[in-house]
Amino acid sequence: MEANLALMTVYNFLGEAYGPRYWWPAKTPFEMMVGAILTQNTTWANVEKAIANLGEKLSPQYIAAAPLGELAQLIRSSGYYNQKASRLKTLTEWYAQYSYDVEKVRRKAGEELRAELLALKGIGRETADSILVYALHKPFFVIDAYTKRILGRLGYTLPEAYDELRIIIEQNIPGDLSIYNEFHALLVEHAKRYCMKVPSCTSCPLGRLCPREGLPQAAN
Ligand code: SF4
Repeated sequence: MEANLALMTVYNFLGEAYGPRYWWPAKTPFEMMVGAILTQNTTWANVEKAIANLGEKLSPQYIAAAPLGELAQLIRSSGYYNQKASRLKTLTEWYAQYSYDVEKVRRKAGEELRAELLALKGIGRETADSILVYALHKPFFVIDAYTKRILGRLGYTLPEAYDELRIIIEQNIPGDLSIYNEFHALLVEHAKRYCMKVPSCTSCPLGRLCPREGLPQAAN
């Protein structure tokens, strides 16, 4: 990943522009894990509806015991609800090995937990790394389409493979969990506010760092 621009400069500019993001928006680590599955292929607004619909039932005990069809109906707004209900059950079975105690999970090494999560059906790298950082407090950098879009536009040459890019980023930022937590959240915010599919570069807080040449501009 070549670029003269230091990743921490990007981080600092984004941090100054947007301030702390307080991610992940969830009341408990388990709700965070559930949100990471529900958000696959849908918007956060749809996830919020599903979480509100679950209400008091958003517990590993309920998800473990609930009939699949009933759970699927509760999370219907998040789309792919049958598939996601089944994924939530799989995740909860894994969590049961730790007696639904997040501190027990956190005592295990990050790489080991990552391998366990990736072995679960329906949990890919992005979902696993989100859970690792935001619920389990393990420093793994979450790569998503927004990360690639912004870093690509800033002039970085990005490897295709998820883990290759993740490791390069991890080697170029301090190994501080709060930076992992905040950096991903800031990139998401930036992709939504300015660096959309068609970017709105006027007043962009990264404007001074960005080549921008040849990019289509929003009509404003
Ligand atoms: S200047 Fe435009 S392309 Fe560059 S980061 Fe900002 S919004 Fe994205």
